[in-house]
Amino acid sequence: MKKAVLLLTGLVLVFGLMTGMVSSQPPGINYVGAGKGMDANSALFSASPINIISSNATPQFPNAIVFEVQADSIAPIIDARLHFYVERDSFVKVVTEEKLDFISSTRINASYTWDMRYTGGLPTGTTVIFWWTITDASGWQITSEQQKVNFNDTRYVWKSLQQDKITLYWYGASNSLAQRLLDTSILGLSSLEANTGASLSRRVSIYIYDDASDMRGAMLFAQEWTGGVAYTSYGTIVIGINDFNITWGERALVHELAHMVNYQMTNNPYNGMPVWLEEGLAMYAEGSLELSFQQALISALSGGNLFSVRSISSPFSTDASLSYQKYAQSYSLVDFLISQYGQAKMASLLEIFRQGCAYDDALQAVYGFNMDGLYQAWLAFAMQKYVRA
Ligand SMILES: [Zn+2]
Repeated sequence: MKKAVLLLTGLVLVFGLMTGMVSSQPPGINYVGAGKGMDANSALFSASPINIISSNATPQFPNAIVFEVQADSIAPIIDARLHFYVERDSFVKVVTEEKLDFISSTRINASYTWDMRYTGGLPTGTTVIFWWTITDASGWQITSEQQKVNFNDTRYVWKSLQQDKITLYWYGASNSLAQRLLDTSILGLSSLEANTGASLSRRVSIYIYDDASDMRGAMLFAQEWTGGVAYTSYGTIVIGINDFNITWGERALVHELAHMVNYQMTNNPYNGMPVWLEEGLAMYAEGSLELSFQQALISALSGGNLFSVRSISSPFSTDASLSYQKYAQSYSLVDFLISQYGQAKMASLLEIFRQGCAYDDALQAVYGFNMDGLYQAWLAFAMQKYVRA
């Protein structure tokens, strides 16, 4: 037990350094092992008077997690802190520290509610790691062992299927629909890899809700139109699919999976991918361009009112009619690069973006043209394919 506490405290100190947190030195920790019995505190530490009686975290999906601790000591407890972090992909581990409110006493009950309505929510299936530091009036401090709490959407009883790096969860759909969606996912990923060289490096969980309304119940700030979301840094996709929207559902699922692949292939702390490439790859993964998008593309090509590659490198506006054209142009740019230059060059482009390269430099290095050169070359290709054909 003592050993575990020491070991964990070591970890906490490392986290403290990584995140720039100031961590006070528990009195025992400095002396144990170093004092060789010379220091009175050494003996005291092995009989640390602070005792954590209970430690719990109760999820209230999707709104909150309630953390509770009970502790006692010989001297009154004067300070108790909760520390927690969320398991996700991140370049910096952010540990949150919360000082608890309680009346000083030799025995305390204290709690902290993490209200996600103020901080932003977490997707279902996320794990949160937490621990406590408790200090008494004699200057003793202990750090508890780390515990995990799983933040799951317990409104439904989930079944699951697994293949390769995908785990698919569902509750309402038939087993055959679930199997079909898993097959679609695997097929979509392998065709994406054949075209771009890109694949998942880490596990992905897909949660199939019965419909968009069930899915929105898992979100704190869901927009009305939300049909599917990829929480890329969590490796989680949530989407509403049933027998009646399966055609849309299969395309949308592969689209979100492609965003997951893009993220895992290129995520870096410096620079993202241009939006036309991000969305173009996701559209390309879905399969051939849908008719409505084709029509938007053809009319823009014929009318000569196209967006420059530069302008669709930044996030698309919410104007629905313009975003059709932006998605269609993004698809067509990716179609051009893959069909004319092949898989290996697309794989090199993604690798260069993983290094955080600027857009013009990345294109120049792989294809020998910048964004303006890409626009000109693509325009000739697209006119031939959609207008003069
Ligand atoms: Zn997208």
